[in-house]
Amino acid sequence: MATVSAGRNAARKARYLMECQRTYYREPLTLVSGSGSYVTDDAGRRYLDFFAGIAVLLVGHSHPKVNAAVHDQIDKLTHTSTLYLTEPMLDLAERLVEAAPAGLDKVFFGNSGTEANEVAAALARHFTGAKGFIALDHAYHGRSAWTIGVSGLSAYRNFGAEPQHVAFAPNAYCYRCPLQLTYPSCGIACAKAIEGVIEAQPAGDVAAFYAETIQGVGGIITPPPEYYAIVKEILDRHGILFIADEVLCGAGRTGKFFALEHYRARNGGPVVPDIITLGKSLNGGYSPLSALLVKTSIVDTIARGSGSFAHAQTYSHNPLAAAAALATMHYVHNKRLVERAALLGAELQKSLKTLLTQGAGAHIVGDVRGIGMLAAVELVADRETKKPFPRAMKVVETLIKECLAHGLVVWPNVGHANGHDGDLVMIAPPFTITLEEIDELTESLRGALAATAAAVLGQALLAQKT
Ligand code: PMP
Repeated sequence: MATVSAGRNAARKARYLMECQRTYYREPLTLVSGSGSYVTDDAGRRYLDFFAGIAVLLVGHSHPKVNAAVHDQIDKLTHTSTLYLTEPMLDLAERLVEAAPAGLDKVFFGNSGTEANEVAAALARHFTGAKGFIALDHAYHGRSAWTIGVSGLSAYRNFGAEPQHVAFAPNAYCYRCPLQLTYPSCGIACAKAIEGVIEAQPAGDVAAFYAETIQGVGGIITPPPEYYAIVKEILDRHGILFIADEVLCGAGRTGKFFALEHYRARNGGPVVPDIITLGKSLNGGYSPLSALLVKTSIVDTIARGSGSFAHAQTYSHNPLAAAAALATMHYVHNKRLVERAALLGAELQKSLKTLLTQGAGAHIVGDVRGIGMLAAVELVADRETKKPFPRAMKVVETLIKECLAHGLVVWPNVGHANGHDGDLVMIAPPFTITLEEIDELTESLRGALAATAAAVLGQALLAQKT
């Protein structure tokens, strides 16, 4: 599998880049081009890309319509900072407010999901005057001080001064319920447990509850339908804001523009958060861009109070980023790609579920889960007990290497590294994939799982005492 520059580039990475900037594969891939659902490495080998740059490339690699819009904008104006207005930026703000739940009428643009979440934390603290946050186990919210503080994955809580006043509640990881219960007889106890966590904090200490609507990095954890109605009622009772981090699951990936639209309040109405953050897919990966949508009532109150939230930024409001986002949203709208993501997503989930029963590696597949264009395949050493593979076996590493040999790029997730048991590969393709590409994915994954299961058996036989 060695590519032309694998050795040389691995050595250059080791020489020049900080070690924390991890790459996948023992021999890291150097990618040189991408088109639609495929990427090509420096050896000219093509891979079906069902990872899409950490769930980013909404309309695939190098889409001609978006390319054209960016080329057009690049010839007009490339940079302004936040201190001037541009048409693309205002058009984008307008489009986002149109798509947002009622009341979330103000937009902040940033350069990363981390930044949008950091601003969400600051807004919540300014508005409520409280310092604390409730977050969920296995959450991922970014790489700045606050967002690390509210991330519940051990691998990412490894640098920076961690903010005080963050308490964690169990997540809705139904396959390995943290409360050892089973849906639906559990009565959604994990949602109800949030109230206990709130009450364990000093009175008035909690500004907001932070949650990825669907946890991504934590393993595509999709809470049951009743979850957010219960959570929101608890938050309302305690006067705590709800920050929905849709950096990964938003912008249509689940088959609705906001993943929270899949959930209903008890009266049948929408569950409306106070702040939503978006990033990643927003402009299909053309340039860094994130957005925060917030209730007007919150920003107005802050403005009437200290009013001290003013700022200017160098790279936000970038017209190229906005042009790419508008072209992406336009294409998605014209081709009804979000509705298609719901339909195609159902086919994707159905196809992946066959991995549980068909193929020589089916016995190491414990769970297949997900929603829309987000899916996870969880690996287990024993399906009955859900026992994970021993860490030393590096099963996920073997599986992604086998996937690569089958011409497939997927998203590895090593549970031990993240402080939970689930070893996974995850899937987050562009919305433009075809039914044929879904078949190709499943067959490649089936082959890779069979090879991984054989490797696991080989390791066990070699280690066996005779
Ligand atoms: N929130 C979620 C849910 C994410 O998945 C990520 C990135 N994986 C972030 C925030 C941080 O986004 P960025 O990497 O753009 O800072």
